[in-house]
Amino acid sequence: MIRGATDREGECTELLQALIRNACVNDGTVGSGGEVRSAELLAGVLEGPGLDLETYEAAPGRTSLVARIEGTDPTAPTLLLMGHTDVVPANPDHWRHDPFGGELIDGEVWGRGAVDMLNLTASMAVAVRHLARSGFRPRGTLVYLAVADEEALGEWGAEHLVTHQLDAVAADYVITESGGIPLPSPAGTKLPVIVGEKGCLWGTLRIGGTAGHGSQPYRTDNALVTAAEVLRRLAEHRGEPRIHDVWRRFITSMGYPDEITEPLLSRDRLPEMLEGLPVGMARQFHACTHTTFSPTVVHGGTKINVIPDVVELQVDVRTLPGDDEEAVMQELRTALGDLADTVEYVPARYDPSTASPVDTPLWDTLSTVTQRWYPGSETVPCLTVGATDARFFRHTGSVAYGFGLFSEHMTFEDYGAMFHGDDERIDTASLGLSTELWEAVATDLLTPRD
Ligand SMILES: [Zn+2]
Repeated sequence: MIRGATDREGECTELLQALIRNACVNDGTVGSGGEVRSAELLAGVLEGPGLDLETYEAAPGRTSLVARIEGTDPTAPTLLLMGHTDVVPANPDHWRHDPFGGELIDGEVWGRGAVDMLNLTASMAVAVRHLARSGFRPRGTLVYLAVADEEALGEWGAEHLVTHQLDAVAADYVITESGGIPLPSPAGTKLPVIVGEKGCLWGTLRIGGTAGHGSQPYRTDNALVTAAEVLRRLAEHRGEPRIHDVWRRFITSMGYPDEITEPLLSRDRLPEMLEGLPVGMARQFHACTHTTFSPTVVHGGTKINVIPDVVELQVDVRTLPGDDEEAVMQELRTALGDLADTVEYVPARYDPSTASPVDTPLWDTLSTVTQRWYPGSETVPCLTVGATDARFFRHTGSVAYGFGLFSEHMTFEDYGAMFHGDDERIDTASLGLSTELWEAVATDLLTPRD
């Protein structure tokens, strides 16, 4: 019997429900996550002929699973399909259904991780199992990685594996989240492929003052008052737009009319254009073309009758490709103006922006195989404004993209709102589609036509 799409859709649906119910919630502490539960579940699904399985425990309970179909030609390229098994916390009070119930309601699976990214973690596993059971003997090696700790920057997951177990996960080509949401455009359906991500510079601004008695505020040097002005300047700072390559290619291929395309590609006209766009799109487009500064946490003051002498302000800076720490410091000084010299910057963490080239065999494979489900569609390169595990692999020289495939039921707006949001869910047709996609990608890339 030939197994059809519905088998895959059903298997993927059940697996996704089980992954959601495992509730591998990562709150950022090393004791959270418990991804061992899902690593064991997936090992149970994958165990059998054609697959070599191995688990790696970076810290107690923080287990990642690797499954391999070894290629016949050691010189042929290796493809890694990587999905994370952890999820961010969810507040059940704000959900219409149990975020960890994994319920199937009207053709949708509900729960934390349904789009970020247990859907793909599940569909990759089902695809790899189908390939292995069907006797798939590719020239290049296919590796599946169910990885822990993506949601807290990968220290106990991808970063650990790339640093300590590179032989197990090294690959020429990597696919992970996100992307692939069909975007309708005047020039037909576009399928965004995430080719790069912004960098992340986290640190604290320490704003000083002079302690004094709260009963005599006149002409005092109150750190909290200075911090308020620092905050105001950061919030009002707009920065210089950067029309980089990925942005240019994305906007050009969307097929918008010239009166929209031209200002979106103009450093001078972009700011005004952004003001007129719907807020969700404006926010996204602004982040794609600017290094951004978000003040997120403030600590200051000791007692109600003491003028504070220090306030600490944490700032989440997201950098564009090509920016370095010095460029960010320069921009910060510009934003703060005459207050720059009174503020001390204490760096905490820096991950530079990373990007993979667009013209690669993996790009060609994605563009070709997706025609089966979206005839006439075009893949377009995109930058994601968040951080994913792809960056660790780009540092090792891999070409790493974010991709998946979804039905037209899933809109870009819904998808964006559900990421780390309430009422996260996915239609089962999307699960069947992405399962078929991975099989087609592995076949096309790893068994080249002669
Ligand atoms: Zn994710």
